[in-house]
Amino acid sequence: MSNYEIKITRTDSPKEKPQDQSKLGFGKIFTDHMFEMDYTKGIGWHDPRVVPFHEISLSPAAMVFHYGQEMFEGMKAYKAADGRTLLFRPDKNIERANNSNRRLMIPEIPEDLFLEGLKAVVKADEDWIPTAEGTSLYIRPFVIATDPFLGVRPSDTYKFMIILSPSGAYYPEGLNPVKIWIEDTYVRAVRGGIGEAKTGGNYVASLAAQIKAHDEGYSQVLWLDGVERKYIEEVGAMNIFFKINGKVVTPMLNGSILPGVTRRTCIELCKSWGYEVEERKVSVQELEEAARTGTLEEVWGTGTAAVISPVGHLRYEDDVFQIKDGSIGQLSQKLYDTVTGIQLGKLSDTFNWTVEVK
Ligand SMILES: *Cc1c(COP(=O)(O)O)cnc(C)c1O
Repeated sequence: MSNYEIKITRTDSPKEKPQDQSKLGFGKIFTDHMFEMDYTKGIGWHDPRVVPFHEISLSPAAMVFHYGQEMFEGMKAYKAADGRTLLFRPDKNIERANNSNRRLMIPEIPEDLFLEGLKAVVKADEDWIPTAEGTSLYIRPFVIATDPFLGVRPSDTYKFMIILSPSGAYYPEGLNPVKIWIEDTYVRAVRGGIGEAKTGGNYVASLAAQIKAHDEGYSQVLWLDGVERKYIEEVGAMNIFFKINGKVVTPMLNGSILPGVTRRTCIELCKSWGYEVEERKVSVQELEEAARTGTLEEVWGTGTAAVISPVGHLRYEDDVFQIKDGSIGQLSQKLYDTVTGIQLGKLSDTFNWTVEVK
């Protein structure tokens, strides 16, 4: 039973659903409905509702436009072979959303209300969840500051929305290893800043380096720490893992790295398989040496969008570190198969990670 009354207004003009699931791409198509809820100081979060997907109207003075007070999340819903609609560890996204909210001075969202709203909107657009191999329904919850005011302070009013986007296979041709650019000039975040919050500001900070990497023929940027520019932090929207000499190594959460749900999942799976997992500082120099001596066995990124993204090649200044023969590693493949198998209800969910939307 729901503790909250979420009002549901269904659209009377449903859109045509995409016909060809091989051409969905990512983040371009939106479903028929969205979740919406408002915050007013003194009242709290109120009027949770599922409504037809619509444009929003805001004052040009709305604080989000000027000082960037906003939080977002990213997660997915999947259609299992038996017809169930599954979410993957939504409790972890909700917990992280509130960690981000606290850092950004946005009022926290009651966890059960967040989950109810999420389920209600996914349920309303359940028919939009694509079923072709590798596809899913991407879910984007976000909060924006809406006070029409040009002074710098936390807003007194906010809007929380959840929009849904049917998304295609991230790698239509299979898990092809990506080429990654280790950025030595720009930085994404510093300890004490907002790097561990999921917020737009971190992404605008990353654009210049992303364009620079693209111009050099690289698909993603790997960030170094903002102080010494010596230690590995993470990739644009993924955390990063290395298999060095049989051990699984990933940068420790230090305040400037985004704590990924997929990162946590990989750590837990690797430990359950008996791997030693080290969360610690990893320097570029250590990677360079491991690549040179042949102990850098696998490199992969982890994130909701691609799940596991094998890395075949890293470039740092004038050095290129080739990872083995450039094909996907065994452990990377096993992680991909296991995580997606659990997400799709094909493997037994021994960790209790999936939540059914009924
Ligand atoms: C969202 C995000 C990740 C990945 O987190 P997941 O919860 O695994 O999707 C990693 N790094 C950054 C900067 C992110 O925004």
